[in-house]
Amino acid sequence: MLDQAERIFAAPRRYQNFIAGQFTDSEGGILSRESPAHGRVVSHYPKSTRTDAEVAIAAARSSFESGAWAFAYGGDRARVLRAVAEALRRNADELSLIETLETSKPLAASKGEVLFAAELWDYAAGAARTLHGDSHNTLGEAMLGLVLREPIGVVGIITPWNFPLLILSERLPFALAAGCSVVVKPSEFTSGTALMLGHYLKEAGLPDGVCNIIAGIGDPVGQVILDSDDVDMVAFTGSTRVGRAAIAASAGNIKKLSLELGGKSPSVVFADCDLDAAVDGVIKAATINMGECCIAGSRLLVEARIAETFQNRLAERVQQLRMGDPLDPSSRIGAIINQAQFDRIAASVRDGIREGARIVFGGAPENHSGLYYPPTVLADVTPGMAVAQQEIFGPVLAVMSFNDLDEAIRLANDSDYGLAAYVWTNDLSKALSCSRRIRAGRVWVNSALQGYPELPLGGFKQSGNGRETGRYGIEEYTELKSVHLHIGSQTERWVDGA
Ligand code: NAD
Repeated sequence: MLDQAERIFAAPRRYQNFIAGQFTDSEGGILSRESPAHGRVVSHYPKSTRTDAEVAIAAARSSFESGAWAFAYGGDRARVLRAVAEALRRNADELSLIETLETSKPLAASKGEVLFAAELWDYAAGAARTLHGDSHNTLGEAMLGLVLREPIGVVGIITPWNFPLLILSERLPFALAAGCSVVVKPSEFTSGTALMLGHYLKEAGLPDGVCNIIAGIGDPVGQVILDSDDVDMVAFTGSTRVGRAAIAASAGNIKKLSLELGGKSPSVVFADCDLDAAVDGVIKAATINMGECCIAGSRLLVEARIAETFQNRLAERVQQLRMGDPLDPSSRIGAIINQAQFDRIAASVRDGIREGARIVFGGAPENHSGLYYPPTVLADVTPGMAVAQQEIFGPVLAVMSFNDLDEAIRLANDSDYGLAAYVWTNDLSKALSCSRRIRAGRVWVNSALQGYPELPLGGFKQSGNGRETGRYGIEEYTELKSVHLHIGSQTERWVDGA
């Protein structure tokens, strides 16, 4: 892998857009991406223009109207999606390397994400064959009701930088399985693997124009997708700020939105739990992907009578996490995505300290150089502090305590967000009460972050709308139509009837 990384440092990869089945450059020039961990340019993407976005949307529209994919046999759609899953597995090493160089996540994590992405494409392939409507034969002798489940139309998929291939694979194969045509806009920081996907789709035999992938800056490229009357739905994953802009833009043609936005998820630790497992799970939830994870467990709520012990064990264990070059197999924590994000994390921690929080472990040292931000545990946090309420998107854990179940649930729900929660207890009724009463799209009990294509994901409150993956995910990309079918000759008359 190191050899291959060196080759990419020497000759950065050059990617093209995928529009109407063709691989093309943009008149807008190129965007260059440096590896955050190595400070070397690794990728050049097209810096697409407004016109590129419009051409991509027109290609998606015309492919949708042609019906070549929208009316295709589910078995044929499944074959294409399965072939992409196979291509992802076959190219897993190369895709993982690109993902690691562009995001700086450890190589093993990238590989896990690529293989999980392949699972998602496989699952969607199966779903393409089972998607169906319904019928009602209880409407009287002369009426048969059919409920058709149809693709919603042209879908724009806009994705963030933190899990480039994985987040795209939670959406794109499901939209394609439903029969939609798509325009994909990956993050301008991490577009490589999305653009590689265009080649796999082409080789798999997807009809031209059904999936178009264009790199570029949020405004204009993403904004054109949000504003277009030719786009019927947008699946947006990213910040709450741009999510709000998506809601405003959707008013133009009342397009449907699926929004996966920010989070501030709690890990709730009860005194009766397996403490060793909980310490490890809390650290994993807080530091996975350097904390640049929408479902990061960034708030720790720990039962007061074990708070001191738990905090000490946490500080002891977190020191053992290896931070370093993401190409080194022993690293668990790589570098932060860019300087701006690094500065935001550092500023949030400084604000927390100013408000009264205390660093138990971590914090960026003075005169820090490079983009490595150490895992950081903040104690003495109170619910009103910014570090307890705002998404930091870095490896920072804000610790608070509670005295009983009701207080734990109240604190867990004391957030504008509702993406995920982690509960650590061996008491079944506490586990069930938390699972039912915490307002979040995903709850893990005595576990952290395992994912399955079968289960839906999404958020409550300001974490978003809609659900991705599972059968619920594919249904998001469909519209229902009722057909009222009269049987036999029609005897009812409107004009001279009684
Ligand atoms: P971001 O909102 O800055 O960017 C996300 C995408 O939107 C990028 O592709 C960007 O180019 C595009 N964009 C920016 N401005 C746009 C505009 N005006 N119109 C259309 N598109 C525009 O988010 P980010 O910094 O890439 O990612 C971090 C954020 O994403 C965090 O807040 C995180 O919580 C959130 N996130 C959420 C989930 C989830 O599933 N809920 C998953 C990952 C990330």
